[in-house]
This record gives sequence, C-alpha cells and structure tokens, in this order.
Amino acid sequence: MRTLPIFFFSAGFLISCSSVRTVDFETPVDTSDKQITFQERQVYFQEDLGLVVDNTFDGARLNGIEKLNDSTIKAIIRPENEPINSSPYYAFKIASNTPKKVYVSLEYPKGHAHRYVPKVKKPTEEWEALDPSKTFIMDSLVTLELLLDKEPTLIAAQELQTSEQVKEWYHDLSSDKGYVRAYIYGTSKMGRELPVLDIYHGGKANKPIIVLLTRQHPPEVTGFFAFKAFLETVLDDSELSKAFLDTHRILAFPMLNPDGVDLGHWRHNAGGVDTNRDWSKYRQPEIRQTVEFIEEQLKNDGARLLLGLDFHSTYKDVFYTNTSQEGSALPHFEKDWFSALGENIPDYKVNESSGNSTKPVSKGWFLKRHGAVGITYEIGDNTPRDRIRTIGRVSAQEMMKILRSNTNLN
Ligand SMILES: [Zn+2]
Repeated sequence: MRTLPIFFFSAGFLISCSSVRTVDFETPVDTSDKQITFQERQVYFQEDLGLVVDNTFDGARLNGIEKLNDSTIKAIIRPENEPINSSPYYAFKIASNTPKKVYVSLEYPKGHAHRYVPKVKKPTEEWEALDPSKTFIMDSLVTLELLLDKEPTLIAAQELQTSEQVKEWYHDLSSDKGYVRAYIYGTSKMGRELPVLDIYHGGKANKPIIVLLTRQHPPEVTGFFAFKAFLETVLDDSELSKAFLDTHRILAFPMLNPDGVDLGHWRHNAGGVDTNRDWSKYRQPEIRQTVEFIEEQLKNDGARLLLGLDFHSTYKDVFYTNTSQEGSALPHFEKDWFSALGENIPDYKVNESSGNSTKPVSKGWFLKRHGAVGITYEIGDNTPRDRIRTIGRVSAQEMMKILRSNTNLN
C-alpha cells in the first residue's frame, strides 16, 4: 500500500470561522466537561485459575477481575461516568494456560441491563456471536461459558472498530480513488485525529453538500457498518455514482469521537459528554471543529447543505426524522426515499419515527441551522451484518437517484 497524502488544515485556516452561529433548542443540555474515570490498562494474571486477562488495547473495556470460584471469574465493567445511557460495553482478551471451560461473569453497575450479545474472536479468525446457550443472564450479572486455551480469545460487546482500523479503511479508499480526499480537520480533546473525506468529481464550487456522520456513540458499530456500505456504494464508480458526484459533494466524517472509541466508552467523549447533545453551543472540541469545518466549506464554496445523515445503533432499525420541515431544502426527500427503500430492499419495512428535535442533536441542527434534511440513521445492534450491507447500499443508491432527479428539475 502506498503512503497517502493526508492534508492537515492549519489553525489559521479555521480562525475566520471561530464564531460559528449557535442554534437554540427547546430543551438545552449542559454539555460542559464532566469528570470521567479512566480504566487501568493492565494484564491480569489470575494464577489460581491459570488465566491471563488483558485490556491493554484500543477499544478495550474492563475495570477489574475477581475470582468467584474454581471455574469462574468476575469481569467488572464500568462506564466512563454516570448518569449514562444504558449501553454496557465491554472488551477484553482472555487466555488459559491449559485448554478448559471457564465462566466469565460480566458485572455491570446496578440499573444497567445487558444489551450486547458477546462477540468472540481468535487472532486469525473472524468475529462470531457467542452461542446464546452459552450466555446466562441474572439481572446485571451476565455469565459467559467459554472454551479457552493459550491463544488469547477476544471477547467484545461488538466487533472492534478502533480509530486505527477506521483509518486503515479510509486510507485504502482514498488511495484507490483520487477524488476521495482525506483530511485531518482537527483533533479530539485528547489529541486524536478527526478525519473527513471530501468527495466530488471535478470542481467543488456551488455543488450542494451531503454530510455523513458516525461514531458519536462509541459502541454503535452497526451504524458504522451501514455508513461504510453507504459510502462504498457512493464510490462504486457506477454510472449513477459518476453522475451523482459530478453534481454533488459528500463530506463524510467516519470518526467523530475517537477518544470515546479507543477508551472503550459506553457513550461519551473524553469530556464525559454525549456529543449528540452538543449541537447547540458546541462546547466539546469534536463538535465545535466539525461544525466549523462544515460552515467553512459552505461559505468558501458557495454551497448549500441539502442533507445530513447521522449513523447510529439502537435496539432495532429505525430512521428518526424531523416532523417540522420548516425551511427544508427537500421537503419530499424522506417520503420518496423511504418508499424507494421499501420497494428495493427485499422483505423490508421502513421504520420511521418522526419528532421535533427538542434537544440539541445533529438531525435538529441540520434543519434549524441550514434548512437541510436531518436524519438519524439507526441500525439495530443485532441486525445481521450482510443485511446491514444491503440496507446501506440500497439507501445510498436511492438517495443518489432522488438527488439526481432533483438536480435535473432545477
Ligand atoms: Zn447513538
């Protein structure tokens, strides 16, 4: 793989836009910094049971272990801070000095129910969901039956997608295609890179912009899988893709919360804040720099922001939309898009949940600040991975068709 030019914007580039316009929401949220607790990164040697347990890697989450009996250890799992949305995320490696059956009890704080089906991976193998008959749930104690040996087994709430892995993915994309420009437009609170992919054919002046966001919430990996499939479809060099990128520009943000992702957070960034409540006053560096970057592009290139899709995960597939479409650039987009998805994804029923964004979430910001269609694109935690690829692909194709025909009408 050849090395890629990654462009860094200097601080001076952003200076002119440090006073981006804030947006008021009905229910403000205090997104000033909150204290977080860091997990201790270490290799635990549990000598009685002959086990080695390890959380010294990006995306790990393990706050301690304890022996419960001769075949069981407890893995203590804690969030970065509280209060927090109940999405107990865990990830660690475990090995045994001799091949044997071992029980690992995940212990969450009281009040947090088990959410994620454990995924298991050996170093040279693919991720697999743990057989449901090997998981025993009792309140906030969830016991996993594992067959272990000397080779470490990775156990995680969802398939790991660290900032390094995501970087490898977008580097490959932008090395393959000259029209995918990878920029680092800022840094997170702890200094990790904030990347954006700037995508268009030919010149960018006056091209309407579509913004794609993901990974505000670290464990929401299925939303990221849809983002990937969506973007890869926009970049598949089909006739549709070529025509679309001749007339439109995509700004895709593949990693909005790299600190949270690499620290194995349940939901927040290193400022201890849900970044998807910060789209009003932009108090967190990740959101502030993202907004500044978007605003600067719109201003410099005389462009209109048409559509913002923010990819997340929840218990089921659902699109959260804005009920009020006041000032919307494309008031019919959702209706057309959802009916096309219903027709073109086999055995699929679109699940739309519409509401006005009273809290400062991105979908409300897209509409209130820019008159753009704003949608929170949610994929179920357990939606089969090949199904996610289909939904991601078809939703990209149908978006391109609608926006193309909209361009032709003008
Ligand atoms: Zn989310």
